[in-house]
Amino acid sequence: MNILTIKDILFHLPYRYQDKTRITPIGDLRVGDKVMLEGEIIIAEEVRKSRRILVLRLQDMTGVISLRFFHYYPQQIVNLQVGRKLRCFGEIRAGYYGIEMVHPEYQILSNSDAPSLENHLTPIYPTTEGITQRTWLQLTQQVLTLCQQEDFLLDELTALIPEHLPSLLEALLFVHRPPPQIKLQDLIEGKHLAIKRLAFEEILAHRLSLKKLRQTIRQNQAPVLTLQEQLNSNFLHNLAFELTAAQKKVCQEILQDFQQAIPMLRLVQGDVGSGKTVVAAVAMLQAVANGYQAALMAPTDILAEQHYRNFVNWMQPLDIQVAWLAGKHKAKLRRSMLEDIALGNAQIVIGTHAIFQEAVQFRQLGLVVIDEQHRFGVEQRLSLRDKGFKEDQIPHQLVMSATPIPRTIAMSIYADLDVSVIDELPPGRKPIKTIALAESKRDEVINRVAKVCEQGRQVYWVCTLITESETLQCQTAEATQVYLQQALPNLRIGLVHGKIAPQTKEFIMQQFKQHELDILVATTVIEVGVDVPNATLMIIENAERLGLSQLHQLRGRVGRGAAASFCVLMYKSPLSQSVRERLNIMRETSDGFKIAKKDLELRGPGEVLGTKQTGVMTFKVADLSRDQDLVPTIMQIENQLLSNHPKIVERLKQRWMVYKEKYAEV
Ligand code: ADP
Ligand code: MG
Repeated sequence: MNILTIKDILFHLPYRYQDKTRITPIGDLRVGDKVMLEGEIIIAEEVRKSRRILVLRLQDMTGVISLRFFHYYPQQIVNLQVGRKLRCFGEIRAGYYGIEMVHPEYQILSNSDAPSLENHLTPIYPTTEGITQRTWLQLTQQVLTLCQQEDFLLDELTALIPEHLPSLLEALLFVHRPPPQIKLQDLIEGKHLAIKRLAFEEILAHRLSLKKLRQTIRQNQAPVLTLQEQLNSNFLHNLAFELTAAQKKVCQEILQDFQQAIPMLRLVQGDVGSGKTVVAAVAMLQAVANGYQAALMAPTDILAEQHYRNFVNWMQPLDIQVAWLAGKHKAKLRRSMLEDIALGNAQIVIGTHAIFQEAVQFRQLGLVVIDEQHRFGVEQRLSLRDKGFKEDQIPHQLVMSATPIPRTIAMSIYADLDVSVIDELPPGRKPIKTIALAESKRDEVINRVAKVCEQGRQVYWVCTLITESETLQCQTAEATQVYLQQALPNLRIGLVHGKIAPQTKEFIMQQFKQHELDILVATTVIEVGVDVPNATLMIIENAERLGLSQLHQLRGRVGRGAAASFCVLMYKSPLSQSVRERLNIMRETSDGFKIAKKDLELRGPGEVLGTKQTGVMTFKVADLSRDQDLVPTIMQIENQLLSNHPKIVERLKQRWMVYKEKYAEV
């Protein structure tokens, strides 16, 4: 568990609590409560149904509750007799005969003296096989005692942080052993200053690590890329449109960075459809114009191919060679491509992360662009660093994200990056009209699909995750295609999902793009980036299962042309309050910033940014949405710490970043 020292135990924090500090009267219980109660057994019987069950009825002055045991020993029947008094702890459920507890923890009370109650909330620690909660209680107790005795815990921040926050020791004592009058809910929601105090340190440690990473990267040299006016204006002139003011501004910021021999580390945030690709192209063009290569890394093959086609259109007239390194290429083609890349004949290289994982040698790479950055995460950004670039010269880095997030959150997560925002959509986009419909209205939806296709438009039909299983998801998509084909025999319906071979998938996407298909049934593989302006209707099934940002990304596939577009969110009723709220937000706004903000509130950054799986974003205490207010103060003190107090920085990293080893290495 990465716990090596006594201090590691101190910072091994509970992830939830139980309240065994008080006895709740049975009459006050509500379903879902996890509580301690006491009462006298008034009925004890073994019920035989398909199996034997031990059922007790327990009574106090205020009411009666059932206790059920599906597994029990003969001795338990002897011990749990009518007239005995019990103290139980468990979750209240709605049973067939009123409220009940199933397999509660229990303790038989003697008639004379009742055991004392806990004098603090009971912490529950993350654990591993072979270590019980009791062991954690003992270990943490020892460490907490030790902390109080000596000058064991260095708390060098207290002088620097807001006065209303408690000391580190107070905060740790509170979190490990919350006093009994605390409401569990407040603790869970992080409303206590003790939690703020720890969150402050944790975010600070996170930012310090990233800033050190930034410093390390920026100690290297990067090529100075001067603006080649002629080539640049030729490129812009050939475009079918003029850049928006926001695109121009961001291009300027990038070109500014290129003037220095320091590696650029810049994030471009822009809503779906805001035109990030062409901004990347402008940047890559400068690298090429200065005699360097530029690489563009996309999250999926489908997207890499789309980028490739765009770049060929843009770059070929300028006599710039573009290579697309795909998994599907035959060995021979691949070899010759690798050679082209090594020789520098391929000036622009496009592919998935494979372009950095394998034995791809660039002649002189000047710029790396990472599209839809959140799918790569910090680790890949780091691995770029040691990708064997020559003579301590490393390329500039541009990362592009389509989940626009509020500034303070971006600051916390991407402390190593400068941030540019494309806060404007290209002109002429009509807002997408979004409606939510119950699944029972499927026939109406199909009629609508037919009408849209009659008008020469195209439709996405998205089958989303119903179960965790990808196989099942693909089967659902297949079944949907068959079903739609029966309902709409005259329309051409294609299907893409994760289990379809890459070549076939690309072929079908291409068919859809060229309007050789009317309807594309797809799983969420189309989520990012695919661009078909003639598609004006999107149906999303089981919309209630998706997060807001994901819905927004999907929806962004339509509304890319001049025609009015629609999105139908189909759901299974009945809807919970929170899902209703989510669907309403989708109907009310198409502003990616607003949607991301709401999504962050509802689900937390790890989920929204897709970094949860990598473990990079798992904060122990901090919640970046909840604790945004801390960021300005953190930013005030961090530079001082970085330049004057390397020891404190090191200690903070050791305290908080143990599980993020990649950072710690830097
Ligand atoms: P995203 O930011 O989601 O990656 P894209 O780069 O795919 O967006 O751009 C979406 C669409 O908008 C593309 O068809 C692109 O050619 C077009 N586009 C980009 N910039 C402009 C602009 N300034 N004016 C008109 N259309 C534009
Ligand atoms: Mg894109």
